[in-house]
Order: sequence, then C-alpha cells, then structure tokens
Amino acid sequence: LDVPTDPIIPIIHGDGIGKDVGPAAQDVLTAAAEATGRDVNWMEVYAGETAREKYDENLPDETVEAIEEHRVAIKGPLTTPVGAGFRSLNVALRQTLDLYANVRPTYYLDGVPSPMKAPEEMDMVTFRENTEDVYAGIEWEAGTEEVEQVRDFVEDEMGFDDVMHDGPIGIGIKPISEKGSKRLVREAIDYAIENDRDKVTLVHKGNIMKFTEGQFGDWGMEVADEEYPDDEVFAAPDSLWEEQDEVDIPEDAVMVEERLADAMLQWMQLRTDEFDVLAMPNLNGDYLSDAAGAQIGGLGIAPGANFGFGRCLAEPVHGSAPKRAGQDKANPTALILSGRLMFEYLGWDDTGQLIRDAVEKTIDEGTVTYDLARQREDAEEVSTTEYAETVID
Ligand code: NAD
Repeated sequence: LDVPTDPIIPIIHGDGIGKDVGPAAQDVLTAAAEATGRDVNWMEVYAGETAREKYDENLPDETVEAIEEHRVAIKGPLTTPVGAGFRSLNVALRQTLDLYANVRPTYYLDGVPSPMKAPEEMDMVTFRENTEDVYAGIEWEAGTEEVEQVRDFVEDEMGFDDVMHDGPIGIGIKPISEKGSKRLVREAIDYAIENDRDKVTLVHKGNIMKFTEGQFGDWGMEVADEEYPDDEVFAAPDSLWEEQDEVDIPEDAVMVEERLADAMLQWMQLRTDEFDVLAMPNLNGDYLSDAAGAQIGGLGIAPGANFGFGRCLAEPVHGSAPKRAGQDKANPTALILSGRLMFEYLGWDDTGQLIRDAVEKTIDEGTVTYDLARQREDAEEVSTTEYAETVID
C-alpha cells in the first residue's frame, strides 16, 4: 500500500505514565512537523482506562477502525489489569490489526549514561514476531477440567508421563508457524537491503525447542536462501556452530545467520558492533529488546513500532510504569522517538532527523528527566513537561 500523503493520525495517550508522556510527546511531534513544513491532523482515540471510563470497554471498535482506516497511528503504554480473564490489550491490538512485525531500533544518543564501554557502537534494529509464540495467550489454568484433559493427553498419548509434576499445573501452547516466521524474516531482510545493513541474525533457541524455535530458524534460512539472489542475500551455512570469518560472502550481500538466544544476550553486550538487524520469535524479541534498550539509556529512551500490511502503529518499548503515573516525571523520549519512526514511515525523513537532533541536543546539554538524572550528576532533572518544552525550543 502507498503511504498516506496527508494523513490523519490516530493517537492513544495511554494509561499510567501515558497520561504524562502522551501529551508531551504529541506537542514535540507537532512542533517538529510544523518546523519542517507539515501539518499533523491528530485524532485522539481511546483504549485501556480512558476507554473504560468513556465507553465501558477496553478496546472500542472505533479505536481499531480508526487505526485500520488511517493506517498510521501512535500509542502510549496500556496497563494490562492483573487477574484472570484479561488478555494483554497491547497484544490484542497487534493481533486484531495483524501487525506482525514489532520493530525496535537501538541506537546511542550523545549524553545518555550507559553501562557499556563503547555505547556508541550500538546500532541495532530488532524485528520481533508479534502475533504468535507463547504470547498468543493459549493457556489452561491450574485446577480446571481442561488442563487435566491436556495433562492426560500429554502423559498418556505423547508419553511424557515423567515430565509433569503431580498436583496443580498450568499449561500453555507455543505456536510458531511457517507463515508467521517467513513474513517476519522477509521484513527484516528487506529492511537490511533498503538500509544498507550488512547482516540479519535469526535469534532462537532451536537446539532445545526444535519444532518451534528450530523451525523458525529453518524457515528463516529458507527465505534467505530461496527468495533472494545469492549476490543480494547470502544464507550463511552452519552459522550456529561454525565461525563465519572464513566464509566467502559476496560483496554487498546481506548475510543471514543464526544465533542461539541465550548466547546472543551475551554477544550483544560483549561484541555490540558485530550485530546489525536481528529477527526473532515473540518472547525472545521481548526480552532481548528490553535488554538492548538498557544498554543505551533504558526504557525511557527505547522506541518501537508495529508494522504489517501497509500499517504502522508506533509505540515505545516501555509500559505504563504505574509507580510514576501522574507525577509529570516520566521520560517522554521513547514515545517521541517512536513518533520519529512513524514519520519516517510516511517518508518524512527530515522531520525524523530533526526530532532525533533535538532530543540528542537536549540530553547532551544536560536537561533530563529523573531516570537519566539518577545516572548523570552533571545534569539537571526536569519534569516531563519542561523536558518536552526544551526539546521543542
Ligand atoms: P514498565 O515498562 O511500565 O516499567 C518498568 C520500570 O521502568 C518503571 O518502574 C520505571 O522505573 C521504568 N520506566 C518505564 N518507562 C519509563 C519512562 N518513560 N520514563 C522513566 N522511567 C520509565 O514495565 P512494568 O512495570 O513491567 O509494567 C507496567 C504495566 O505496563 C503492566 O500493566 C504491563 O502489562 C504494561 N505494559 C504495557 C506495554 C505496552 O503498552 N506496550 C509494554 C510493557 C508493559
């Protein structure tokens, strides 16, 4: 689908700190668009707490329809109520709209405190599968008749009678499909080609979970091997077990390799400069992108967006941080930089660059919210609102 040229952009401010960072980020995004000669037609829509107050439901049809129709939207975090019977609203929204790729760039901004020795080497983009894996929410609760039927099946029919302990048990299902895996890996490879990246790393735990995570790796390598010419995309053979230094890779080709997820978490910290674009199943992607975010300033900084079928729903990596809600303290940078991704999807690259430069200058000159102030003695702690005003200035 072509991107909309004069978009109406639905915005959900979100729950918890969403009420602080939502309006602040919206002001910054509006100012950046105006400064680069563009108008944003915002359309406020509701989900979560505000939707319950207004419509008495969590995710009103109007909200889903607005995002479906206008195709480009941005949201703050939504709280998933604790207790039985609540599926994550975020997951529901991504699944309903079939936004199958969650994309999280991790790059370093000058002035951000980082535990790494060379944080400026961090420049990675993670592609996380968004619709399946254990996050599909297919689970049976301990004590129900259903879970006992599943237990009987697993023990008697499948022969795993020595694996499950006696007494109450909860059971979940981990679906990983060819369709879901391949379309995600395709997005990651296309992104690498379009953005002159050298490598796509498929991150999974296929040595243990052979028929789910292992299949993800196999299907991903199949995409690399069969759907692109060798001089454009090179599927590295045996990359799980052998060093690739000796492999003869065609010049300018994107190399696609595999890594085991547990080892990857350490490589990411020890050899940051070796990684570029990462593609992985849902759960690995969730953990790994939070960990990557911590290396470049934490959740207050880390942006993201969900893509699929010509739609883009930008959202930060962080949640609603209830402890900080309503205090005008939280860091709006993650939501602001998520807006940058959305604008770049619209082709507004100059607006995106301006946003990045303004945020970087603000932090580098020492105006920061509480989360970064804790780690930088020379910086001045300001409120969410003051921070956004400084970025706009
Ligand atoms: P969280 O990301 O909300 O917060 C964890 C901690 O990170 C906070 O206590 C705070 O110290 C810090 N933090 C996060 N965002 C920050 C910001 N912008 N500025 C400064 N500090 C920030 O994670 P959680 O506490 O595990 O989850 C709280 C709620 O958010 C849950 O209901 C969860 O389901 C939901 N959640 C929603 C999303 C989403 O909307 N996409 C994502 C994750 C969690």
